[in-house]
Amino acid sequence: MKPAPFSYARPTTLEEALEVLGTSGDAKVLAGGQSLVPLLSMRLAAPGLLVDINGLPGLSQVDCDSRGVRFGALVRHAELMADADAARVQPLLAKALGLVAHGTIRNRGTTVGSIVHADPAAEMPMVLRLLGGSITVASTGGTREIGAEEFFPGPMESSVRTDELAVSAWVPALADGAGVAVDEVARRHGDYALCGVAAVVGTEGGRITSVRAGYLSVCEVPTVVDLSEAFAAGTADEESLDAAADLALGALEPEDDIHASAAYRTQLARTLTRRVIRAAHDDALDRAGKEGPTP
Ligand SMILES: Cc1cc2nc3c(=O)[nH]c(=O)nc-3n(C[C@H](O)[C@H](O)[C@H](O)COP(=O)(O)OP(=O)(O)OC[C@H]3O[C@@H](n4cnc5c(N)ncnc54)[C@H](O)[C@@H]3O)c2cc1C
Repeated sequence: MKPAPFSYARPTTLEEALEVLGTSGDAKVLAGGQSLVPLLSMRLAAPGLLVDINGLPGLSQVDCDSRGVRFGALVRHAELMADADAARVQPLLAKALGLVAHGTIRNRGTTVGSIVHADPAAEMPMVLRLLGGSITVASTGGTREIGAEEFFPGPMESSVRTDELAVSAWVPALADGAGVAVDEVARRHGDYALCGVAAVVGTEGGRITSVRAGYLSVCEVPTVVDLSEAFAAGTADEESLDAAADLALGALEPEDDIHASAAYRTQLARTLTRRVIRAAHDDALDRAGKEGPTP
């Protein structure tokens, strides 16, 4: 199919882009186009104006320091994934980006665009939520920072207003002693997952002190569950992993859709929860170069 007719603007300064977004009332930002263009072609979206941000300066940087990683609105998935400093400061970024679509889509799609698009089946909205990151948005009225907790108010919905441009995203550095892992099940390599889970496991002296898990393609919005109470013993033993999976499933309401039944998603969430927590714990121990305590 072909898109409905639209006007096209390619501003060359941020000020110009914000002015156009602020006055149009019917504009959509075009970043990598990997989600928006299919939506236009299927006529699921029909904005009067596309504001192409690919000519804007200053939005292609990845900045890392000891506190975290900030990446601009034009940083492509592939660039962020290949950034060695970003992978060192927050390793979950590269791990999760490796599961996003195919290489050709990662070469063009932007990570900020994916977060703003807010697909509950996408990896990076869930990663932002799990890590407790934030998005900086700009409009003619100024800039504001939106925390991940409030960034996904509903299905396929983000808190970016139509007159705003998301200029960058920020995620905190991996804490000392922590480890991360992510895994998912998809019908084919590169497809959106039927269920995906990531975990951040905190340790002290090899003992587990905290566990958080993030879920994609399970609920209507990317969802994070604190599973720390299942690990009072400090180890990722079978009993604790079972308790964590029970706790997670008590907090999730798996969706039924044409891709998978709620019952199948429940089973996937259980299996992946156990698997990623174990892997994140191993990752923490590897990073610390320590052995875990004997169960
Ligand atoms: C075949 C296929 C398979 C895919 N598989 C996956 C997958 O497995 N996992 C996954 O996560 N993604 C997948 N994607 C989507 C891909 O990751 C996109 O890159 C991503 O969803 C959107 O990024 P984009 O830069 O292309 O945004 P666009 O398509 O340009 O925009 C998407 C939406 O976000 C808005 N937007 C974008 N940038 C900004 C901004 N800076 N400020 C304000 N609004 C903005 C747009 O207005 C639009 O509403 C797939 C896409 C395709 C075509």
